[in-house]
Amino acid sequence: MTPPTSPLVDPFGRTVRDLRISITDRCNFRCTYCLPEEGLAWLPREELLRFEEIVRVARVCVERFGFNGIRLTGGEPTVRAQLPGLVGQLAALGTDLSLTTNGAGFGLLAADLAAAGLRRVNISCDSLRRERFAAMARRDALPQVLDGIDAALAVDLSPVKVNCVLVRGRNDDEILDLAAFGRDWGVTMRFIEFMPLDAEKAWDETAVVPADEVVATIDAVWPLDAVAERGAQPAERWRYRDGAGEIGVVASVSRSFCGTCDRVRLTADGMFRSCLFATREADLRSLLRAGASDDELAAAIAAEVGTKWAGHSIGRVDFIRPSRSMSQIGG
Ligand code: SAM
Repeated sequence: MTPPTSPLVDPFGRTVRDLRISITDRCNFRCTYCLPEEGLAWLPREELLRFEEIVRVARVCVERFGFNGIRLTGGEPTVRAQLPGLVGQLAALGTDLSLTTNGAGFGLLAADLAAAGLRRVNISCDSLRRERFAAMARRDALPQVLDGIDAALAVDLSPVKVNCVLVRGRNDDEILDLAAFGRDWGVTMRFIEFMPLDAEKAWDETAVVPADEVVATIDAVWPLDAVAERGAQPAERWRYRDGAGEIGVVASVSRSFCGTCDRVRLTADGMFRSCLFATREADLRSLLRAGASDDELAAAIAAEVGTKWAGHSIGRVDFIRPSRSMSQIGG
């Protein structure tokens, strides 16, 4: 018999309920703020968790600890074969199931993913200018990404959110164009501060475009009101006063939101992390492949959550960059 569900509370009193699962470290883009041009050494296939292993970890999190959110990410999750099959198995767990994708291959998959039980999608798009998009993603794929956004709207994966990482001097002159795009297309733009998780280690604080600047720039043209309830969401929400939807700003660097964090992560190779910036991880893949019971998996997950920090320390002298990049951990 399955033991009763009991919430997983970290040492700072936060209840952990949200699991980000990276299903591959591979990506078909080479965004300059994430990956080097030549890519990274991809994980050998046998090191990736198999679908049944991913579903098992997710099931333990849901059944034992009452997790209510699962987000699939990568790398680029749409490059993993049979994605709708995985989505169907995870959807059966009954949580809010979402996906983060670069959108380039999403148009072809949208209907199957929605039919399999995907509820929401975030699609990344850092520029609306084709040449600049190609320079930032190192792939000339803006038309495919726009098709992907269109497909997400067509199958009603709403609200469709569009993630944009702003990098000073690269795309910060497009804040208003991107906001106008969100208003016109009926999607929620989410402006994300550039974090020190780029594989090329080029990040520095001067490249970060602070969330306050984004809000002020947009508010000067289309007035915004703060949306009060935010919960554990990373994005602070702002609503257009004229009723044309909303934006989100993810102030991970200038105003971290660790105090309400309810997230943990499973990497594509089965390492369980209590924070994007954690310097340690629990090896669930070895446990799974050694025949561990659900009790043993649950104990390993709970122990790792017991090491969750109060918050990351970007910008402080004691900050230690994680040894893996965003694409390897899963963004
Ligand atoms: N490939 C998918 C995508 O493009 O959305 C999912 C994985 S990607 C790592 C997830 C999100 O992380 C994307 O919105 C991406 O722009 C963002 N990201 C990657 N590196 C980042 C960095 N150094 N700082 C902030 N966001 C980053």
